[in-house]
Amino acid sequence: MLLVDSHCHLDGLDYTTLHKSVDEVLLRAKERDVGFVLAVATSLPGFESMTQFIGQREDVAYSCGVHPLHLEEDYDHDLLRTLAARPDVVALGETGLDYFYQQETIPRQQESFRRHIQIGREFSKPVIVHTRDARQDTLDILTEENADECGGVLHCFTEDKATAEKLLDLGFYISLSGIMTFRNAHDLREVARYIPVDRLLVETDSPYLAPVPYRGKENQPAYVRDVAEYLAVLKSISLEELAEQTTRNFCQLFQIKIPTIV
Ligand SMILES: [Zn+2]
Ligand SMILES: [Zn+2]
Repeated sequence: MLLVDSHCHLDGLDYTTLHKSVDEVLLRAKERDVGFVLAVATSLPGFESMTQFIGQREDVAYSCGVHPLHLEEDYDHDLLRTLAARPDVVALGETGLDYFYQQETIPRQQESFRRHIQIGREFSKPVIVHTRDARQDTLDILTEENADECGGVLHCFTEDKATAEKLLDLGFYISLSGIMTFRNAHDLREVARYIPVDRLLVETDSPYLAPVPYRGKENQPAYVRDVAEYLAVLKSISLEELAEQTTRNFCQLFQIKIPTIV
């Protein structure tokens, strides 16, 4: 069985007290059948330091982008394009809209989101979308910018069924995190039951959002196993089936060939 953590901030874990090294974190993950992770950048300097810290590995892929909450200052658009073209970069993001934490940067968030989609289309790389309190604008921009041409995923999905339907219509994948395991997430579990398994990904978004039974502690890629176990029960399928399907979806979306599977 092979599980993938489709979205984590691998360089953001606590390497001073909790973990010795990236090797150790990836080994903990492998012990729980999590054999591959996508390390997601949230700024351009962050991308540089992340790739330097993690290095080139067979079991880690990178995305490159500027998070909507990191737009107080503008960034170098040409540099984003240059980094996006790198062969070890499989996606643009995370990008998107976050109106919950920042209203004053909304125009900038929208412009940056559009730019990420445009570069994604140019290089045929999918976009990793973050959205909070910005449901309609997110869908509108994805549609207006023809994001169906590069495809993508809405990560850490917490939206409603109508939004899921529209994303599926756009050809997007939907990624579920530990939030689904939280006691009050009834509505999200309902939507998760509805989303077809061939369009689902699983993620940790570590170091954030640790699933039950680790809630409140630091999250790590190994815990995507707990997300997957929970989701398999919700979908009434075996963990093996869920792992096989979500890993296949991941490889398809990001055009990744994981060495251990053909
Ligand atoms: Zn996010
Ligand atoms: Zn994230």
